[in-house]
Amino acid sequence: MEMNYTEKLKETFSGRNIKAYVHSFGCQLNVSDGEKIKGILKEIGFSFTDNPENAGIIILNTCAVRESAEERVFGIIGSMKKLKSENPDLIIGVSGCMTAQEKNLERIKKSYPQVDIVLGTSAINSLPRLIYEHIQNKRLAYDISEYADFSCSAEQVRESSFKASVPIMFGCNNFCTYCIVPYVRGRERSRNADDIINEVTELVNNGYKEIMLLGQNVNSYGKDLENGLTFPQLLRELNKIQGDFIIRFMSSHPKDATKELLDTILECDKVAKHLHLPVQSGNNNILKAMNRNYTVEKYLETVNYLRSHDSGFSLTTDIIVGFPNETDEEFQDTIKLIKQVEYDNIYSFIYSRRNGTKASTIDDKTPEESKSQRMRELLEVQREISDRHYKRFIGKTMRVLADGKSKKHEGFLTGKSNEFIIAEFKGDESLIGQFVNIRVTDSMNWAVTGEII
Ligand code: SF4
Repeated sequence: MEMNYTEKLKETFSGRNIKAYVHSFGCQLNVSDGEKIKGILKEIGFSFTDNPENAGIIILNTCAVRESAEERVFGIIGSMKKLKSENPDLIIGVSGCMTAQEKNLERIKKSYPQVDIVLGTSAINSLPRLIYEHIQNKRLAYDISEYADFSCSAEQVRESSFKASVPIMFGCNNFCTYCIVPYVRGRERSRNADDIINEVTELVNNGYKEIMLLGQNVNSYGKDLENGLTFPQLLRELNKIQGDFIIRFMSSHPKDATKELLDTILECDKVAKHLHLPVQSGNNNILKAMNRNYTVEKYLETVNYLRSHDSGFSLTTDIIVGFPNETDEEFQDTIKLIKQVEYDNIYSFIYSRRNGTKASTIDDKTPEESKSQRMRELLEVQREISDRHYKRFIGKTMRVLADGKSKKHEGFLTGKSNEFIIAEFKGDESLIGQFVNIRVTDSMNWAVTGEII
């Protein structure tokens, strides 16, 4: 019979009041994994600390999207050698996307003896066993195998009491040439629809107001399931759940933005009228070199379809500037595209060479200064667009989920509208976690301001 490692560890740690420090780097999916890791540690009996110096167990939940991110984590692991020498019983673990690369496991084995546990992205449930094995054998315990079943039995320790991230799938089959994710998160695996619907129902019944469905490419949800629901069908099922809440999701891949999906977004009252649709470039040659599998024309068809049904529909996107050997003309196509689409916001990045990706083998002749100049131009153009575009809300009523105190305006709260627009307004902290209606009185290029009505 399989040993119950959690029960064993409860005996080991009970009454010792040991605190755990869990830090997640990178995307929301990784943060959600970090919440699961906390759930497992809580079940063993650990409480939590925000200070690694007060911890008896430390888990660094890593991101591998950029090489600099990895080097930063190795720097942090290096600095923890001192903590380990001061407290030899301290357990140090590394989880997340960095662990999916064999080379990192070898590097940890060779150069970081202070690390006791290495936990793969889909091996989270192995944590109790690895802690137990490390304590028994006094050596590195690791599991970086790929598991199909990634449901976590322990209750997630969520960061928020009213906004919840709900992963619906893991992995990616798209192999964009600049991206390491398919190599560290594996092939697309969708969660069972009933598990997702039950989880969201429970969250809504527990008062959650915003559900963020997560996946590297949520639009292809269900394609790997036999007789499974498609993503639009899953959204329609979630939309039937009783309660006052909003459904958001990311990330979407434009090649899978079907008419059925767009109609579902437009027709379902709980689904936000906002779509984050990463375009990356406005030039077809670059899109081809990125292996994005759509054209600018196809992308604009999607945009025009949404806007023809809802002129105020909010769109945001990701843009990569300076993909290897991108010419000025090709970059100007990106500028032309953002002027055409008029995004409410863009998330832009200068291309970052990532070892292990196809694009990293390209001999890139584009000077870094040109890339920085293009980024400056892109941000300038988008600032002007957002400044003008946000004015459309002035005088309008906006429903906002108050999610915290404003960092910019004393006595103000901040939150996001259905359109994913940041709104700042005067209000009492007791409103945090509630929907409020505001009348928009002014706008900036990053947010609107208003008053509660
Ligand atoms: S869709 Fe492309 S960019 Fe997004 S995770 Fe997959 S490979 Fe990476």
